[in-house]
Amino acid sequence: MKIEQYRDMIYACGRCEFCRGTEFSDRCPQIFTQRWESSTARGRMAIARAILEGKLDYSKDLRERVFGCFLCGRCREECKKAAKIDIVAITKAMRADFVDRGVGAPEEGGKMTSTMAQKGNIFADSTSEHTKWAQGIKFQKGSGTLFFPGCLASHRFKEKTRILVQVLQAAGYKLDFLGDDQRCCGTPMWVTGDVRAAKQWAQDYVKKLKARGVKEIITPCPSCFRAFDEEYPQLLGLKEPPFKVRHSSQVLEEIVAQKRLPLKTSVPKVVTYHDPCEIGRYRGMYDQGRKVLTAIPGVQLKEMSRIREQAFCCGGGGGLKIMYPDYSQQVSEERLRDALQTTASVLATMCPACELNLTHAAYKTDAPLKVADVAEIVAVSAGLADKAILEPDYISDD
Ligand code: SF4
Ligand code: SF4
Repeated sequence: MKIEQYRDMIYACGRCEFCRGTEFSDRCPQIFTQRWESSTARGRMAIARAILEGKLDYSKDLRERVFGCFLCGRCREECKKAAKIDIVAITKAMRADFVDRGVGAPEEGGKMTSTMAQKGNIFADSTSEHTKWAQGIKFQKGSGTLFFPGCLASHRFKEKTRILVQVLQAAGYKLDFLGDDQRCCGTPMWVTGDVRAAKQWAQDYVKKLKARGVKEIITPCPSCFRAFDEEYPQLLGLKEPPFKVRHSSQVLEEIVAQKRLPLKTSVPKVVTYHDPCEIGRYRGMYDQGRKVLTAIPGVQLKEMSRIREQAFCCGGGGGLKIMYPDYSQQVSEERLRDALQTTASVLATMCPACELNLTHAAYKTDAPLKVADVAEIVAVSAGLADKAILEPDYISDD
């Protein structure tokens, strides 16, 4: 069993309760939505211990306790003050054990992974749909710097993705794009526990990108960023990532620091910033988005009550949007309430999954607030996009 390697950590849990908090709504989105003691990090450590001791086995009844975790990392952050347990790694190992022992992921999770493996994207869209956002944009094949939008940015946010590329190109980055050759980064595979398929996927992708001469990857998606930068080296046993990988927040920070784009137009908006889990807690990248926002003339950054290490998840992590959409929606509406309390008219973030979830929450509750990528606000200030895209009632043609 894959959890064997975490035996010492699993037994280190002292049930201190830091991970779940005393209010069920303040830290862990799993206990917030599912309410069972077994739906907390410490509950999961007790389950893992019982499995190691042969008192419990992986079963369909147990599935929601493990696949109902958003993998947001808030518990891991809290556990740094206690037993320093890597709860996210243990949860992923448990998911892999479910698959290895033939129980499998929840049906929708399994479907997402097989769709992605067969079609190359999680939406089962055609290749032409996959690349539609890039129509009319000139890329430079062989530049060595690959722009990798990922499934969500390609399929659900065509306009936002075009705007980001316009910003990067106007700032002088020479971007290559895979076009019809682009496939999903593979994240759904390890999120749903199919590690064997994930290894093969990573191996094939590295080969393909090396053959194309890719030296660096720039992506707006924190999951794709971590896929190439962390998951591939782990899966393939590499000491270093096979390519230099940067998230768009790092590149936008560079653009601002090096003054590569004149930000002349004032954007007189109160903006709040949501920290995506996979670049925030996972990688400590809390400042990039904020530095860019505060460099834009007119923008007033007003923070939510839960930010940085304590930020509440958007509801989209861990594959929950597909596997347990009701829980996902409840969490995104809770996070939206945090944003509305600031009175900001723009909720900015830098993750297509966060943008999708929070946008759904804003539509459902008719919230007077626009969910935007930081790159869109940069584009408005640089005169590359119309200010209308930041209005709450703006809906793109996507
Ligand atoms: S914070 Fe860590 S040690 Fe404390 S109960 Fe949670 S998992 Fe156990
Ligand atoms: S990773 Fe997030 S959702 Fe999962 S147990 Fe930890 S705090 Fe809860």
